[in-house]
Amino acid sequence: MPAQLIDGKLVAARIRQRLADARRSLGSGPIRLCSLEVGQNPAAAVYVRNQQRAAAECGIEMEVQNLPVGTTEAELIATIGNLNRRTEVAGVIVQRPLPPGIDPRAVQSAIDPHKDVEGMHPANMGSILYREPMFPPCTAAAAQQLILETGIDLRGAETVVVGHSEIVGKPIAVLLLHHLSTVTVCHIGTRKLVDHTRRADIVVVAVGRAGLVHGDMIKPGAVVIDIGINQGPDGRIVGDVEFASVAQVAGFLTPVPGGVGPVTVAMLLRNTLRAAGAQV
Ligand code: NAD
Repeated sequence: MPAQLIDGKLVAARIRQRLADARRSLGSGPIRLCSLEVGQNPAAAVYVRNQQRAAAECGIEMEVQNLPVGTTEAELIATIGNLNRRTEVAGVIVQRPLPPGIDPRAVQSAIDPHKDVEGMHPANMGSILYREPMFPPCTAAAAQQLILETGIDLRGAETVVVGHSEIVGKPIAVLLLHHLSTVTVCHIGTRKLVDHTRRADIVVVAVGRAGLVHGDMIKPGAVVIDIGINQGPDGRIVGDVEFASVAQVAGFLTPVPGGVGPVTVAMLLRNTLRAAGAQV
């Protein structure tokens, strides 16, 4: 029985509609989201355009600053300092990858935690553990939202998160733990990944390796959330999950593209409106 696809585009459109309503309730003053990028990365350019389009739909102005190649960490941090002081700037995001020589953590830590709409400042990361994140990290929040869309009862459900990065895997594990799911985190040191994934009711994959998870690693009927973004052999974007074989076994599956990605952008905009004072 083929899996039901979880349509991230549809979920994101619904969230953006709710956000546009919430934005109107904040009056007509500008709400700005500022994106900083050092140099020009074609992949980031596509991502920024999508963010701009989605922001406009929600009444958020996006200001894009492309800093020249060769910008130093100190200069980038000084630019962030200026944005921290501008009252109409609700949120600041820094596009990745950053050039070698710039420490992403130092940069993220320079953003005022009240404007850290990606939810990656150590203060916001830490607050996740206390169940009171001001701004949950966007991709983790998107994965959580897509799992909830399926209607699965998370309490007691066996969840396996594959990938333990600071910005994706770990926060997802913590968010799902708050729902009383029994969470196992697998990573590069895991001995036999299949032994874990095969008994999971929910599998979330965030590794960055095309085709890592295939159908015979999945329990029939499981919810599978594919976070990976990889370039396939023909140049097309593919996830970490081998779509054809997993779709034959899983109960629910997110496509790539069109799954987690658009919902991640919607979560970024939700965080921006929260930063501007909206109760969303
Ligand atoms: P990362 O490189 O920081 O972390 C990769 C993780 O995968 C590590 O925890 C590592 O231990 C684990 N890993 C590597 N090889 C493994 C293996 N063979 N078996 C099990 N675990 C293994 O990557 P990241 O920043 O967490 O991103 C992961 C993927 O998610 C990438 O493809 C990235 O492009 C994508 N991503 C998507 C979104 C989105 O919104 N859709 C956002 C962020 C990242």
